[in-house]
Amino acid sequence: MAAKKPETTNEQPENGSETAKESKVTTGLPKTDVNHPRMHFDIYAILEGSQELYFGHEVQVNVNLVEIVKLTTKDGKSLEKCYISPTKRRGVERRCLLWAPVKSGELLGDKQKCGIPKTCAKPDCPICAPYGALDPGKSTLIGRVTHGGGVAVQDIYPVEKQRAMHPARLVNQKDETPIPFKRQYNQPGILYPVYDHALSVTDKEFSSVAYAFLDALPRIGSGNPKGIAIAESESQTPLLVVDRYLVPRGKRPIISPSVTDPEQAIADFIRLAQYPENDTEHIQLTYFDRWIGNAALDKLQEYAANFVATVLQA
Ligand SMILES: [Zn+2]
Repeated sequence: MAAKKPETTNEQPENGSETAKESKVTTGLPKTDVNHPRMHFDIYAILEGSQELYFGHEVQVNVNLVEIVKLTTKDGKSLEKCYISPTKRRGVERRCLLWAPVKSGELLGDKQKCGIPKTCAKPDCPICAPYGALDPGKSTLIGRVTHGGGVAVQDIYPVEKQRAMHPARLVNQKDETPIPFKRQYNQPGILYPVYDHALSVTDKEFSSVAYAFLDALPRIGSGNPKGIAIAESESQTPLLVVDRYLVPRGKRPIISPSVTDPEQAIADFIRLAQYPENDTEHIQLTYFDRWIGNAALDKLQEYAANFVATVLQA
């Protein structure tokens, strides 16, 4: 089963006849025109928990645990860090799109007949086009938005708190003795570097991603409380970078998981974001644009506003 097949699919003659076999290896995406070019987009941000946060992970003898990653730093120290898993952020972002209000009075997911787990998988769906979909047995649309990061900067271990009763058990259980349980929480003030990447999407498709990224921030977390903010530097600039490009240039503002000092993480983020040009909010090179700080926030909000104008309020 594991034997490697000869890679015949890559050896098609360039001008050879199109075969049915070959159509299986294409992306299935429609061609765009010069007015709607496909580009790559990246969002880099450092998020800050403004209160304790719970990221439902697993339950162990009445303790609800949060997700933790174990790592060894560059200098050989073993660490455990809190974590916002990229798959959880992705889920919240998709849900923000599904639940977005449309002018007709519907929610976007209902209007598109697109939901979880039954996604519509149509290439022109403003949700499935960037986020991908699977309509079992019928069609698959590969997602072109991927999520990364989420490993906390500080090595602050989550704190356990006693809770009276799980809300799910409060209904119709009035006569029973409440079952106390403990829940872990990520502590406030933890920084989480996170990244969203979009591969070969149009400006219109990226507008869904920009809207979802921003709209998801107040809704991140399981249960209550929810919400996380874009952290700011000492000069009150949002720690945010948006790239739109064909050629990957500059340096990617990614924080090493070995870093545990928030000041160093913020300095690294700014240093990497500003390469190769300092003191500008907009780096413009051939086939590459980078917006930093407030300019990045403005740019994301401009895309999100386009999404509302052309999809939700159209
Ligand atoms: Zn869809």
